[in-house]
Amino acid sequence: MIVDERIVSYLHSLQSDDSEALMKIEKDAREHFVPIVRKETKELLKVMVLMNQPQKILEIGTAVGYSALYMHQYQPEGGKIVTIERNDKRIMQAKENFEKLDPEGDICLMEGDAIDILKQLDGSYDMIFMDAAKGQYIHFMDEILRLLPVGGILISDNVLQDGDCGKCRFAVERRGRTIHKRMREYLFQITHMKEFETVVLPVGDGVTISVRVG
Ligand code: SAM
Repeated sequence: MIVDERIVSYLHSLQSDDSEALMKIEKDAREHFVPIVRKETKELLKVMVLMNQPQKILEIGTAVGYSALYMHQYQPEGGKIVTIERNDKRIMQAKENFEKLDPEGDICLMEGDAIDILKQLDGSYDMIFMDAAKGQYIHFMDEILRLLPVGGILISDNVLQDGDCGKCRFAVERRGRTIHKRMREYLFQITHMKEFETVVLPVGDGVTISVRVG
């Protein structure tokens, strides 16, 4: 945990409840160790959606659909989400959850690896939430630049690897070093690209918020 555990618990205690159905999905996911967005990160997502009023959101990493359903409730009327997932078991659960909580079909689940699916997408998105395999973020960048116009927002989750990213390579356990290297490369890239202005926030497992500026 990046931030003191007591502070995080205190912040959680300030959060208000979601609908019962959404809270059930969240509870089931956490109990079954599905890596859904952390409680403090979802609050950030809520405010970003309310501030930016994105009509079209692209999410990379659906899991069981929790964050898509969560963001959708704060989108403006008629808001749509395209979300990508490659894990069959999670796809099945996400479909069930979308059938129950998104009867209008505003959320479109695309099944497969984001590396392939992103190439098939066209049009533009107002906001992209990247929440898939961390080591791949850097490989999604060309397609993200194609799909996100100037003014669009890119949010990437889990970028600080529970704080390991701030440590030197040798202070990280050997098995975590590849991801450490990739995330540091990603953070360097996203904070130095001329196309984006980016802030790195120690919220949850680390989040970047980038605005496309050119
Ligand atoms: N956004 C979800 C939420 O908060 O409810 C959590 C997503 S979870 C952190 C990451 C998900 O991304 C996993 O279910 C995993 O199977 C999926 N994933 C990872 N890499 C992917 C890829 N290259 N293409 C599609 N899905 C991917």
